[in-house]
Amino acid sequence: MRFQFALALVATMIAAPAMAQDGAGEPRWSFAIHGGAGTIERASMTPEQETEYRAALDAALTAGEDILRDGGSALEAVTAAITRLEDDPKFNAGRGAVFTWDGTIEHDAALMDGRDRASGAVTGTSTVRHPILLAQEVMRDGRHVFLSGAGAETFADRTDLERVPNAWFRTESRLRSLERLKAEQLSAIDVDYKYGTVGAVALDLEGNMAAGTSTGGLTGKRWGRIGDAPVIGAGTYADNRSCAVSATGAGEYFIRVGVAQEICTRLRIIGGDDGTVAHTLTPQGQVALAPREALDLEMAQDVADDVLAEVEELGGDGGVILVTPAGDAIFSFNTPGMYRARSTSAGVREVAIYGEGD
Ligand code: ASP
Repeated sequence: MRFQFALALVATMIAAPAMAQDGAGEPRWSFAIHGGAGTIERASMTPEQETEYRAALDAALTAGEDILRDGGSALEAVTAAITRLEDDPKFNAGRGAVFTWDGTIEHDAALMDGRDRASGAVTGTSTVRHPILLAQEVMRDGRHVFLSGAGAETFADRTDLERVPNAWFRTESRLRSLERLKAEQLSAIDVDYKYGTVGAVALDLEGNMAAGTSTGGLTGKRWGRIGDAPVIGAGTYADNRSCAVSATGAGEYFIRVGVAQEICTRLRIIGGDDGTVAHTLTPQGQVALAPREALDLEMAQDVADDVLAEVEELGGDGGVILVTPAGDAIFSFNTPGMYRARSTSAGVREVAIYGEGD
């Protein structure tokens, strides 16, 4: 069902009661992660590389799903998965992040709590081992939402977070990408063929959602460039009323579309303000309101696909992961592949790389 069609249906809805996560239905949890989207094709990967990526995604997925299954919070699950991926040099976050034009590494990260939309974001940090945890500290502190560069580093001094020299994040392969970009005057995606940002989204048994994203941005970025990942509403968004989203891709386009919030807002409008969601057509052709938790998987998939199509119309590519109050975990991307994994209390468990679904 297209978004416009869904909106038209909402106009003719008949009422039905809302249902909370702790209401009649079984409490659900769901979890999804990504490690970047791009030209990720079977032909360009060795079997060893593929095995390594799958193992890394599986381990990060397991870290989050164990927390959720045991009744832990969505925020805990998201940070548990992202800190793992930040430490893994295969991904463009934490250690192994891409180089700036000046040969340094500058991280961006954001974390959002769907309960009250509390958020923390940092950009241009250079010594914090886990930027996602610095974003969490910004959120906990609560005075500000978004800190940058030297100021973010000074704020980090006031925390107990682990610090490392900037060189600790460096990897040879990322350095070669920068050198090639400069020598051959390539774009960031030409040298890397993929975006390697990492992200996670979760729904916990309490019905709370959270989203987090962490990245080094784009190879050769200059002039303090900030991508979509730490911009609340662009690369990261969570709202218990609708969904939690983390994005990866050509950040400039994701910012222009406001991808993460756009997806959540469309789902919230379909849902209505009273906790219900247009869901089913009655035999008489009327739309019966179903509980928000019944937000249709297909409807949420269509909304995500539609917003990604807008990115593509503007010339951008990439992907998103989202979870919904219904307990679904959804992927959408317009690149040949996306490193991704999902798991739900309903028994879905999947680790995938390529566009064909595996
Ligand atoms: N979206 C990130 C950025 O533009 C890049 C990525 O997804 O890898 O900074």
